Amino acid sequence: PTAPSVMSVNGHFANMGENATKEQYERGIQVINENQEFNPKLPKYLSLEKVSPVGFNYHLISVFGSQSTGKSTLLNYLFGTQFGVMSEDDRRQTTKGIWMSKNKKDHASTDSKNMAENILVMDVEGTDGRERGEDQDFERKSALFALATSEVLLVNIWEHQVGLYQGANMGLLKVVFEVNLELFLKDTKSNPRSLLFFVIRDHLGTTPLANLRNTLVQDLTRIWSGLNKPPGLEKSKIEDYFDFAFAALPHKILQPERFVSEVAKLGTRFREGHRDPRRDPLRGDQEFDGGVFLPEYHRRIPADGFSIYAEQVWEQIVNNKDLDLPTQQELMAQFRCDEIAREVLVDFDEAIIPFENKQAEGIRSGAPEVLGGLGAAMRTARMKTVKNFETEASRYHKGVYARKKAELESKIDGRLKVLFQGQLSAAHKSGVRTFSDAVSAAVKAGQKRGASYDFAEIVDREKKAALSKYEKEARGSLVEGAPWSNYKQEMTLYQKELSEVSGRLRRDEMRRLATRVERWVRSRLGESVGLEFNALGSGRGGSGAPESGERGSEKEIWDRIWSIFRKTVQEAERRFTDRAKSFDASSGEVDVGLWRLRRKSWGVLRAKIDEEMMEGNLLLKLRENFEDKFRYDEAGVPRIWRPTDDIEGIYTKARESTLTLIPLLSRFQSAHTSTPPPLDEWIGGVPSEATPADEEDLTPIGGVDEDEGKSLEEEMTILTDAKRQDITTRFKKTADGVYVEAKRSAIGGMTQ
Ligand code: GDP
Ligand code: MG
Repeated sequence: PTAPSVMSVNGHFANMGENATKEQYERGIQVINENQEFNPKLPKYLSLEKVSPVGFNYHLISVFGSQSTGKSTLLNYLFGTQFGVMSEDDRRQTTKGIWMSKNKKDHASTDSKNMAENILVMDVEGTDGRERGEDQDFERKSALFALATSEVLLVNIWEHQVGLYQGANMGLLKVVFEVNLELFLKDTKSNPRSLLFFVIRDHLGTTPLANLRNTLVQDLTRIWSGLNKPPGLEKSKIEDYFDFAFAALPHKILQPERFVSEVAKLGTRFREGHRDPRRDPLRGDQEFDGGVFLPEYHRRIPADGFSIYAEQVWEQIVNNKDLDLPTQQELMAQFRCDEIAREVLVDFDEAIIPFENKQAEGIRSGAPEVLGGLGAAMRTARMKTVKNFETEASRYHKGVYARKKAELESKIDGRLKVLFQGQLSAAHKSGVRTFSDAVSAAVKAGQKRGASYDFAEIVDREKKAALSKYEKEARGSLVEGAPWSNYKQEMTLYQKELSEVSGRLRRDEMRRLATRVERWVRSRLGESVGLEFNALGSGRGGSGAPESGERGSEKEIWDRIWSIFRKTVQEAERRFTDRAKSFDASSGEVDVGLWRLRRKSWGVLRAKIDEEMMEGNLLLKLRENFEDKFRYDEAGVPRIWRPTDDIEGIYTKARESTLTLIPLLSRFQSAHTSTPPPLDEWIGGVPSEATPADEEDLTPIGGVDEDEGKSLEEEMTILTDAKRQDITTRFKKTADGVYVEAKRSAIGGMTQ
């Protein structure tokens, strides 16, 4: 093949255009340019050549040898590459640097003698500075680079150079050996081996290859023994580090056909090989068993990490830093694992960020939502992310890989945990709300129907529904294997809150019940107590005790009211207790409800009494009472006054009788004991279960709530002294009026 001879211009990398295509890399890529700069496009090249994803399934060969010994020519024939070759007529030196190209020889046939897959070849140019009198700096650097990366070093040598121990080739090999010792000194664990593959060019055939090989092995052994070895390695042997192989090629110009056929034969040796335990590393030859690529030569750099590894290594070499390969491998592993983590997180983000946004939105708006499909998305994302990371990153340094995997897991688990917790909290909030709404709605529906509804049953049913909904949502969001995937504690909290809410709802229901019972008490008392006061107007006593005589009956009005009151409240208490028990109220709650009921009922009674005792009502009643006694005789027949009647006597008697009502009505007290009813005892002390809220809306009662500064005596005072006085005066005037009228009618009746 013919190829352009000049690969790069003025130190710029060839093929550096942004839109590099495969065609632009036809001649391979200049990994290191003549200014000793590393080409940042290497990853791009490897991915264009589809090498990046192959893991360890690739091979690296470097070629070494003096300038113009036909190295590039050989590679181009062997691997179908298009490395620059010095033109025949213009024997100009090609540029220095390191080129790389992928093997272009087809290996699609099933023949087991085929070349290995993914062979990368590095053409190291200008390695023999000594011939041109230049410094050996680049020679050393490129040797280090090649050894740190390559499995096979092709050493190109003219036949006539074999045995010239002092020659340039041997100098080059000495450098290779020195560098190798330096390089792998620290890597005692893996102790990598390399294959030195000698290709003897322009082999005339007169000296058999075996002889040439022996000469070379002798020279190599001499070089090795002459090396300054680092402490501890003084006794090391060349075969501890290298295997050897040899091949000879005929003259390309003089025997072109044989050259081509021998190169083709040589090509078949570049396949996967297995070590034959009997094989002597120094006895490599054409009849080599198997291929040249033994697994132990592989530098174990995953293909997708090769670029970064090579760059780091070159960085160290160029800056004359101590090249510590295990450290470089760790650094590469870190770099690549981070990169892989970033790559796998792209898909993770795509799947998870929409949920994160939605959840954040819900929290911001104060209405967190249970996100549908979250569980499935989390399970898939977590599984895929970890799996993708494992696939790519597990080829790297085990320790680094394990650490980075843990980092990645904790990173995604951190985010998934937040989502999970948010989901639980949304399920919690919406569950509590739904529960409370459902119970209220059912109660309202029950009230509307008018029928008595079973509050306890409603609560029980809705609680079960709320729990099973929560459980379903929580279970649906679990991610097997994730350390956060558990909702036991949250479920307990949820149950606790449901119980709190049902307690609150039950207390509400108790209040509603209390209101209903109070209303009943008000209506009953309004009627029965009203009757008692109305009876005063008849002057013949209340309905309660007709047999005890009319005056006695009037006197016992408070005893009767107290008795009516107690009976009414007792009945109310019974109703309240029955109903409250039906919805599972605790006995403490019932006690509080009854206590409140008694207090409120007293308030109802007191208000009813005050209403009856309003000035106008009271005066009317007194007047009726008086008139009844004055204008009707004992048999209840209306009197027709005659002048002979003792109008004054009847008047005085009736007036005095009615006037006794005023002190009687002024104070709520028993006619028998002249003491107020035992209201404090009857109401009882504050139940221990009562909360401040239970006492908040209560009106203080004198003698019951001592700290109110009002005594029971005052509570039972219906009319103050001043009021009594006033009523007495006004009543007397009314009575006087009636009397005058009667007197007039008596006289009038006589004159007529
Ligand atoms: P490199 O510098 O080692 O890469 O050598 P090149 O491949 O550029 O070849 C240098 C010169 O040697 C070119 O003019 C080639 O034509 C010539 N050449 C290539 N192969 C052979 C060979 O096998 N024998 C001889 N004598 N010349 C060769
Ligand atoms: Mg060349």
